Amino acid sequence: MDLKKNIGIFADFPKAGISFKDINSLILNPKAFRYAIDEMAKVAKALDANIVVIPEARGYIFGTPLAYLIGAGLVPVRKPGKLPGEVTSESYDLEYGSNIVEIQKDAIKPGDRVIIVDDLLATGGTMMAATKLIENLGGEISGIITLIELTELGGRELLKDYFVHSIVTYP
Ligand code: 5GP
Repeated sequence: MDLKKNIGIFADFPKAGISFKDINSLILNPKAFRYAIDEMAKVAKALDANIVVIPEARGYIFGTPLAYLIGAGLVPVRKPGKLPGEVTSESYDLEYGSNIVEIQKDAIKPGDRVIIVDDLLATGGTMMAATKLIENLGGEISGIITLIELTELGGRELLKDYFVHSIVTYP
């Protein structure tokens, strides 16, 4: 299935110069959504992970069904101030702007094998911050899976120490 037919492209969103890839049209189509998750699961199953980490907010969409399919637990990575209890944080640069992300300290245990799942890999800043949160808590990164990869933005090079898999690439 050609998933690109189900991904919307919006010029100058959310800022001038950004070509935004919109996955909402893909998840609206049940066949495309199922195909996307199944393709991610084929790769995820081989990574022998017990935890799927999902960056807020679109990581939730793909990471949740994936964790269910491979029999892993879910750990959210969220914007500051959203998680109760003890948290640890990392700051990072986005394709547009900068951000801070947090994880609950007791969510990852030493020796956990973790897959990080998001909708899109651009500069890799979000993923890199997530890897630091996980590794600082003693977790091991089994792999990184995204639906979309923007190959010209260098995410794969930034994440060269990790297994990175994407289902659809642009340009
Ligand atoms: P990075 O940190 O790799 O530069 O950017 C990836 C993060 O920004 C992901 O969490 C993703 O949701 C969001 N993002 C950046 N550009 C786009 C885009 O064109 N489409 C979508 N859906 N998300 C984007």
